[in-house]
Amino acid sequence: MYVEMRDICKNYGNFRASDHVSFGIEKGKLVALLGPSGSGKSTLINLISGLEKPTHGCVYVHDVNLTQLSLEEQISFRRWHIGVVFQKYNLIPAMNVFENIVLPAKLLERTVNEKEVFHLAKTLGIEEKLFQMPDELSGGQQQRAAIARAVYTHPTILLGDELTGNLDSRTSASVMELLKKISRQYQQTMLVVTHDEKIAAMADRIIRMKDGRVVEDERL
Ligand code: ADP
Repeated sequence: MYVEMRDICKNYGNFRASDHVSFGIEKGKLVALLGPSGSGKSTLINLISGLEKPTHGCVYVHDVNLTQLSLEEQISFRRWHIGVVFQKYNLIPAMNVFENIVLPAKLLERTVNEKEVFHLAKTLGIEEKLFQMPDELSGGQQQRAAIARAVYTHPTILLGDELTGNLDSRTSASVMELLKKISRQYQQTMLVVTHDEKIAAMADRIIRMKDGRVVEDERL
């Protein structure tokens, strides 16, 4: 398993946001985490991204037990292995799309392969927007740029928290199609949170949450 949650519990005071959650995700799969608001989806994303520590249980990413890393090791691990796409894109307004996409690679002191950036932008249908500023792009195009930025360094796992939440249904569907295409093409493992059944149905697998528990795990 590429990502594994082993008997995870997360308490906030007396409240249990994750209640004995266990599941594994294979490499290259696109998994949707589906459930009503408050069911504990974001909590799991925060635990996998290392932003939170579980009260009980372990999170493994790429055979590394995240719960045992020091803060410094965690920061470095996250930079190399985890890509997150937020609902609010978080593109840097003063940088054009190309500069936004390659920023994480530059922070990792990697050489930027322009051809690869163009190829990725083409896959995402934003190749003509590469040298424009984020505010010159539509919401859907900004979202694609944010996905390109998260994918370009080929993180072990790409996490998306309601990443189609601000998009209309047609754009949301095309974003999911692209994620699927990228997960196949680059063997990227992806876990995306949604409360939208139609969006979830486009994934390889749906994990349904309720009251902090996994209530159904369906492979499509
Ligand atoms: P979802 O993403 O499914 O909407 P969350 O994981 O954000 O659900 O939240 C699950 C539950 O945990 C909610 O009831 C929320 O209020 C609670 N919760 C989340 N984060 C915190 C926190 N930092 N402190 C206290 N309660 C929290």
